[in-house]
Amino acid sequence: LIPSDVTLSQLEAEVRSFCEERDWDRFHNAKDLSIGVATEASELLQLFRFLSPEQVEAAITEPTSRASIEEELADVAIFLLRFTGRYQIDLATAIRNKLARNATRYPAERVRGNNRRAED
Ligand SMILES: [Mg+2]
Repeated sequence: LIPSDVTLSQLEAEVRSFCEERDWDRFHNAKDLSIGVATEASELLQLFRFLSPEQVEAAITEPTSRASIEEELADVAIFLLRFTGRYQIDLATAIRNKLARNATRYPAERVRGNNRRAED
């Protein structure tokens, strides 16, 4: 559920403007942006470190920790959109292509209720 009409293209343009205003292109090659994605994903993971499953659910509900989770998710998404914008990658199409590939790797009738690949 995404309660917003903002498109990936609009967000990508906003991220591009933000970076162009700061002359950050020189810092944003594919390697740098991949490091950015991984670093921000690590910051997201850090928020859940050592938490029990019950504490994880509480963290998502509690307003302060939820705000931190939203911030790190946004950081990951910003780096993804910066990457796709810099290299003219259509993220929506890439996601749909990967979902289609995953549908063949994880046929619902064969993997329902477990998270292992069908060929495992
Ligand atoms: Mg961060």
